[in-house]
Amino acid sequence: MNQQIKTSKIELSQKALSNNISYLRNILGEDIIFSSVVKGNAYGHGIEQFVPMLENCDVNHFSVFSADEAFRVNKASSKPSTIMIMGAVDDSEMERIVREGIQCYVFDTCRLESLIKAAKRTGTAANIHLEFETGFNRTGFNKNDFSELITIINSNRRYISIEGMCTNFAGAESIANYYRIQKQIKLFNKYVKVFSDSGIKPKLRHSACSAAAISYPNTRMDLVRIGILQYGFWPSKETLINHLSRKTDKSDPLNRIISWKSKIMSTKEIKIGEFVGYGTSYLAQRDMKIATVPVGYAQGFSRSMSNHGRALVDGTRVSVIGVVNMNCIIIDVTDCDSVNIGDEVTLIGNQNELSISVSSFSDLSDQLNYESLTRLPVNIPRFVKE
Ligand SMILES: *Cc1c(COP(=O)(O)O)cnc(C)c1O
Repeated sequence: MNQQIKTSKIELSQKALSNNISYLRNILGEDIIFSSVVKGNAYGHGIEQFVPMLENCDVNHFSVFSADEAFRVNKASSKPSTIMIMGAVDDSEMERIVREGIQCYVFDTCRLESLIKAAKRTGTAANIHLEFETGFNRTGFNKNDFSELITIINSNRRYISIEGMCTNFAGAESIANYYRIQKQIKLFNKYVKVFSDSGIKPKLRHSACSAAAISYPNTRMDLVRIGILQYGFWPSKETLINHLSRKTDKSDPLNRIISWKSKIMSTKEIKIGEFVGYGTSYLAQRDMKIATVPVGYAQGFSRSMSNHGRALVDGTRVSVIGVVNMNCIIIDVTDCDSVNIGDEVTLIGNQNELSISVSSFSDLSDQLNYESLTRLPVNIPRFVKE
């Protein structure tokens, strides 16, 4: 793991996660396997901290993008669990994933043959999920590949276990994609049948990400792959509104897990008419008190927040002034009662009744929640609290 940079810290709330998981289990159904998507360093929350937190909520199925993430999850996990790789695996990693019983998407015959080889070498069957191309056009077997695929599977039954058949939707978070999604659902069911008719049956069928699981209940099937929702964020405003429209209580049922905090490094008084920071982007319109916070774009505070970002100090919402530097930002604390070196600064999270969510952070900088979260650097120390 990288050397930690300790000028800020990330706190994770176990209570918020427990709330989210039980809410989601309740609406998705207890019989459906809940696969927690922890790719992108658990959406920036930190795999090493987040996996044990999930295990406290009895989650035992994890989805990741790549083999290196799968190995990290396996290390972080202390209970029997299933780990599923949805994306990248290098040929050099095939044997290890088979040996460790890690499950793996297969979307071309190249990977299938590589897994069969690894299974032969290790004497352990490879646990695979066949991904079908249904209209997303990223990865997945095309219909034309099916007969070759069926032949390979049938002549290697001892070396592979068909754990699942799956697909991924092209934007279930927006009604604009409604017809495309409907078409994908139909094709997926048809393809599963083609294989069943050839004697190849999956243990599980799965297709839903967060947005599909909420907005298209028939995509839930046997397993749901839930990322963004478990962290307390909605895939889109539309998905939230759609969900709440079917409920009487209109408040957001999910809680944010993450807070990001730093401390005041120094303070300074400046006079009206002076520029603050590099260049001329901020001109003091009054006598001001400013403070420096040791978090800049190298620590994940996007440069696009220059003169736009907000933070909470002393229970007050304050503004980032001037450009975001590599390692610090300057904030305007003129209106705070008292601000001193060492005082806590909240970059994401709550102080008193005020809050800065990643989404307001994202709206301000035109980024999606997904992107802002996963950009939080791995080398910020992370702590779990109750
Ligand atoms: C990332 C991902 C998910 C989870 O998406 P969310 O919108 O965060 O729930 C599900 N399936 C696949 C294939 C993914 O890549």
